[in-house]
Formats: sequence, C-alpha cells, structure tokens
Amino acid sequence: MKTLFEEIKASIKNNADHDRSFWRPVLPWGGVFTIKAGRKAVSCTPLYVEIKLKNTCTIDGFLMLLYVILRENENFPRELSHYLGREFVDCFLQLMDSYNFTSVKLLWIWDKMEKRQYRSGIHKASLEIDLFGNEHENFTRNLEHLMATIQESYCSNSQCPTRFQEKHMQTVLINPPHEIPHGDLIQMAVDELFCSKFELCEEVGCGCLREYSARIFCHGPPPFVILNMEQWKSEELAYVPYYLDLSEQKYLLEGATLFNKDEHHYSAAFQIDGYWMHYDGLRNVNLILLNKPPELLLLSSLVYVRAAEKEH
Ligand SMILES: [Zn+2]
Ligand SMILES: [Zn+2]
Repeated sequence: MKTLFEEIKASIKNNADHDRSFWRPVLPWGGVFTIKAGRKAVSCTPLYVEIKLKNTCTIDGFLMLLYVILRENENFPRELSHYLGREFVDCFLQLMDSYNFTSVKLLWIWDKMEKRQYRSGIHKASLEIDLFGNEHENFTRNLEHLMATIQESYCSNSQCPTRFQEKHMQTVLINPPHEIPHGDLIQMAVDELFCSKFELCEEVGCGCLREYSARIFCHGPPPFVILNMEQWKSEELAYVPYYLDLSEQKYLLEGATLFNKDEHHYSAAFQIDGYWMHYDGLRNVNLILLNKPPELLLLSSLVYVRAAEKEH
C-alpha cells in the first residue's frame, strides 16, 4: 500500500483537469478512536469506550504541513528529532503514512500539548476532547525549542539598571511595519525582528541609546519556520514572498494556514513540486488542487522551509 505522501504525489501527477479532487481521503476534521477492551476489561465497567475529537482544525492544517515538509526533505526527520524526540517523529510519520488519522492527533495531543490547552470530559460512554481555540496555542507553541531565538542588548548608559538584557522568544511573531507602504513587508518585518539595531532604552528614566545584537536561533536555523501572521491584515499585504532571508539562511515558502474569523475555522494551503493545494478537513475529504497559488487572504501563518535541503 502506498503511503499518504506517495498517494498525494501520484494524484498530482495523474490529475486530470476535470477532476481536481484527490481520491484518497486526507486528515479529516475531528476523529473517533474506539478502544478495544481486552478480556480483563470485560468484568469491570469501563468509563468510556471511545475517544471523540472535536474542533481539531486548530492542529489539522499544521499536522498536514508538518507531514509534507518531513516527507519532502529527507534530512528533516532526523533534524526535527533533536527538538521533538526521535520516537515522536518516527511515530508521527508512521501514523500519517498509514492513514491512522485519529491516532496521529492523539499522539500530538498527549505527547505535545499541555492539559490546559484543551478541554476534555466524559459524555455517555465517550471521552470528548475539544481543541477549540487558537492554532498558535495548540500547535506552534508546542514545537519545543524549534524556533527559540535570543537577542542581546547593551545600554550605552553605564548607570542603566538593566544595562545588559537578553530577549528570548519561543515563536516567530512578526509585526506589520508602521509606515512603509511598499516593498517586501514580510522581509522587512523579519529583518526588524532579527537584525541588529540601535533603539532608545525603555528603562524608566534612562532613554539612552541601546544596542541590540542580531537575533539568533538558539539551536541554529531550524528546518522550517512558522511566521505568526495574526497581527496582519491581508489587505495591507500586496504579496507574500517566495524567498525569505532569515538568520543568514534562505528559506522558501512552503505553505500557509488560513483563519476564517466568522466561522472560527482554520484551513491550510501548501505546495508540493510547485503544485498548490488547499486542505480543509471539515469541508472536504480530499485535498483540492489549485490552478494557481492561493490568494492568502485571512492569513494565520506563513510556513517557510530552509532552502539548502531542498536542492537535492
Ligand atoms: Zn538604559
Ligand atoms: Zn474549525
């Protein structure tokens, strides 16, 4: 049997113009996991016999993206194991490859999420886990130290009570620039976050010049980065760059997650070999092949992969 990734690649290759939906279902919204009780369990009344997942779109799009990224770049699984653990990465790939969609979500929930990040309760004979919320809380924050960065700064005032400072970030949250109307706004925002600069010290009563060093990734440039785009309005964004310079590395656009505010619902788009696809596990059982790159309205995040690895 072909893996999910092989199946998706084959579908792109054989795709006829009149049928743009893939016949192999991909990660569906929600999920039900039936617990097969063994002989021993028969004698006692079980608390629940199945696990029901709700509102899983806060992790679904990213799980699809993670899978595609890991399967497209042969060195990435090993590299990502340093952050997420070898057992997790192996198990994740194996479950996705073999279409064990509810199990892969349970793996994420139990292995990577914190209990406070979701609600759970027992209804009738099932344990319900509700992932309603924010995808950056439910997914991005749980990538361990993958995107951890540090920036040091030094105040020119020798009397400054906080002369030396270190600013840590666990995720990459970029802010839209205030006044620059043209150009590559995303690259500018990334530079603003990562480049060295001088700014006035914010310590009360100081106001002297503070020098910031370049922000660096604590564990080297990661295989992929997720830019949190929640602060941006899509109308402010003329285009999304395909290339990004980040911490002296080239990154390539791999995909995006999209957020529909009215429905409080997330979906995703990504590309394989230059073919763009839309994923929405609630609306469609299949991926939808797009004629052109998505317009990336309603952006929740942009996902870039490190370029060097893609060349071979
Ligand atoms: Zn100061
Ligand atoms: Zn949803």
